[in-house]
Amino acid sequence: MKYKCTECGKDFSIEHIHYLCDECGRDWVPGNKLSGVLEICYDQADKENIQKELLINNFFPYDKADLPNIPVGNTPFFKAEKLSNKHNLNLWIKNDTVNPTGSYKDRASYWVLAQAKHHNINKIVCASTGNAGSSLAGISAATDIKAKIFIPAKAPLGKRAQNIAYGADLDLVEGSYDDAYALSIDYSADGKSLNRNTGYNPITIEGKKSVALEIYQQNNNKIPAYIVIPVGDGVILSGVYKGFKDLLELGITNSIPKLIGVQSNKSNAIYNYWKNGEYKSLEHADTIADSISVKSPACADLAVRAIRESHGFMIEVDDSLIVGFQFEIARNSGIFCEPSSAVVAGIFEEKYMLNKDQQIVLLLTGHGLKDVNSILNY
Ligand SMILES: *Cc1c(COP(=O)(O)O)cnc(C)c1O
Ligand SMILES: [Zn+2]
Repeated sequence: MKYKCTECGKDFSIEHIHYLCDECGRDWVPGNKLSGVLEICYDQADKENIQKELLINNFFPYDKADLPNIPVGNTPFFKAEKLSNKHNLNLWIKNDTVNPTGSYKDRASYWVLAQAKHHNINKIVCASTGNAGSSLAGISAATDIKAKIFIPAKAPLGKRAQNIAYGADLDLVEGSYDDAYALSIDYSADGKSLNRNTGYNPITIEGKKSVALEIYQQNNNKIPAYIVIPVGDGVILSGVYKGFKDLLELGITNSIPKLIGVQSNKSNAIYNYWKNGEYKSLEHADTIADSISVKSPACADLAVRAIRESHGFMIEVDDSLIVGFQFEIARNSGIFCEPSSAVVAGIFEEKYMLNKDQQIVLLLTGHGLKDVNSILNY
């Protein structure tokens, strides 16, 4: 297997650490969407080694022996009966709020930790709105690898507390997530630490694909009609797509679910890009859904491509409705998710021609207890 540039197709050896394509990403500077994002590409020999029954265990670039000793993923998947009846839809929940640090981000951290071990690196740095940092801090704490985190000082208290509890070296940035991103890129520039920034390190996309493999298996080897995904940097969306695309290319499945990406109207760079066909960074991104608050989303290109190629669509929700969405999901399913996850309830507002013959999966990405102030202030 190898890394492949998602723009020019150039190959890079898996034996070395690579971030962006040395040609397409050469002029990239923090503060812009990434260019020259790499992805893992499996060759025929890899494919032949991947046996259907062992799919989830074998379908990743590193040896299982390099994985941290803490279970990640394999989260519950179930039909949300009450919510389905209320909205006259066939709604399923993939409950990623129960990952070890309470968010989907653990799927990426898990495989980045394996990457660090594989390459003998003992420090990993990342920028975060809160959850990527909590996740890297927590999953690293199960190993001897150190975590260095840059997060905005205004990140929700619960997320800051997690970073402290897990013992990460925490840098509170007086600025935005985009500022933290730039600082973390500087930090790893000397090559002494591995950078886990979302999308920048291709293993974050690869790690985040695991949910697709799980959904396929937990759904009795069937492909759901739709998956509804909260979108910030667009890496979860790109990862979900990568998982289903790999299954398709291996000949295990014959279709891909339509992906529905959801953003807040106060942080909607990817929505606008999808709608207008033209990318522009935002002047401000300030949604109550802090985990999806970003001015220049790292994985904007791949995310828009995932929406198009899966024949899905993007929606934006009014920011003032998001806490109400948390109530809606909590009171009709028993799952208390954070604002950034609750945006998926945006599909109930207009229905978007969805009907109850289609299986719709809501990806709930972060635990509600991480940010109790949004509920209490409301
Ligand atoms: C990071 C995050 C997202 C968005 O993921 P992106 O890859 O940035 O699009 C959604 N929900 C939660 C809880 C997150 O932590
Ligand atoms: Zn390239």
